[in-house]
Amino acid sequence: MKQPLLDMRNIVKSFSGVRALNGVSITLGDGEVLSLCGENGSGKSTLMKVLSGVWPYGSYDGEIYFQGQQVKASGIRDTEALGIVIIHQELALVKELSVMENIFLGNELGSCVSLNDEMMHSRTRELLAQVKLNISPDTLIRELGVGQQQLVEIAKALNKNVKLLILDEPTSSLTNNEIDILLGIVQELKGQGIACVYISHKLDEVLALSNWVAVIRDGNHIATKAAAELTQNDIISMMVGRQLDEL
Ligand code: ADP
Ligand code: MG
Repeated sequence: MKQPLLDMRNIVKSFSGVRALNGVSITLGDGEVLSLCGENGSGKSTLMKVLSGVWPYGSYDGEIYFQGQQVKASGIRDTEALGIVIIHQELALVKELSVMENIFLGNELGSCVSLNDEMMHSRTRELLAQVKLNISPDTLIRELGVGQQQLVEIAKALNKNVKLLILDEPTSSLTNNEIDILLGIVQELKGQGIACVYISHKLDEVLALSNWVAVIRDGNHIATKAAAELTQNDIISMMVGRQLDEL
């Protein structure tokens, strides 16, 4: 079998002795989308925080391999250097700074090339075009709606040479039009070979976008199945642990 892009094996994570993840394993290939489904509190965000280095190596049990190499990240800088980028449920842009400043924030330190203002503007315009945002690089974040901010977060991720993008409930506060744009962008990234872990409660989106659907319940990995073989009701049954007609 071809080596997967991502292989998370038997991840166990506890908070004050309470197990939030009880041995969860997922794998993903280049350019594939895996949706992570589960009820609130089932452990989806925790699993992605382990993957993205928010919870560092040593704070969980199990192993993570990315492009065949074991990941032992001490923070998100390490995972970003590998091309793993997470966009959290809570947006993390600095409201009083511009779109361009946010996109390059934290970049100068890690990079040995220093970009001049004109280069940064031009790069930002390119990135904004990629996420279909028709705004100036100098727009302040606080002037943007939540959906536009989400797209700026994706532009920022694209500037980091992303190979695996993690979107944690990106559409929960977007309008239908913004959701369509976001889903279109994930489709395009997929076409460019960029993989995505997508967390959403909107099962129509999940089925339209994903190659794979992984379900977790109470920190346990229930199943990973090909999206093409699933209906929305199948996913809900796995999420709640009962057939729908028993509910
Ligand atoms: P989901 O994203 O699926 O809604 P989470 O991964 O956020 O679920 O949470 C899984 C479980 O871990 C929940 O019981 C939650 O209360 C607990 N948990 C998550 N983060 C923390 C934390 N930082 N400290 C303590 N408990 C946490
Ligand atoms: Mg969550």
